[in-house]
Amino acid sequence: MNIVCQHCFTTNRVPDDKDHSEASCGKCQQKVYSSKPVDLDNSNFYSYIENNDMPIVVDFWASWCGPCQNMAPVYNKVAEHSSALLFAKVNTEKAQQISADAAIRSLPTLIFFYKGEELDRISGGLNEMQMKQWLIKNVQKVSE
Ligand SMILES: [Zn+2]
Repeated sequence: MNIVCQHCFTTNRVPDDKDHSEASCGKCQQKVYSSKPVDLDNSNFYSYIENNDMPIVVDFWASWCGPCQNMAPVYNKVAEHSSALLFAKVNTEKAQQISADAAIRSLPTLIFFYKGEELDRISGGLNEMQMKQWLIKNVQKVSE
């Protein structure tokens, strides 16, 4: 499957039988992804969303948004324990074009992408249980 490197944004072809989380990037030699959510901006958002074969969750947030700040540690914690998913963040103040394209109307908003398509979204601050339930529901959809 194709996985876009979190560091240099090169698309890497990773054998399906290999542990993806151990794969290294052919260009920059770093791990293609980690459990830490990657920050996406106007320059890399679309290539990341469209070229990855793994499902991706994106947290749309802003620095002035209290519920976003409260949810950030929950998001990081859930990301650490979900190796079958890629986690990303978009700062809506910096990446205004992406936020407009995605029709973000309230913050925080999580969007679940799979092969370039939006499968689902959820807005408002979530606790760990709510976030996990929402992710599991969508992972089941893509693995059917
Ligand atoms: Zn790389």
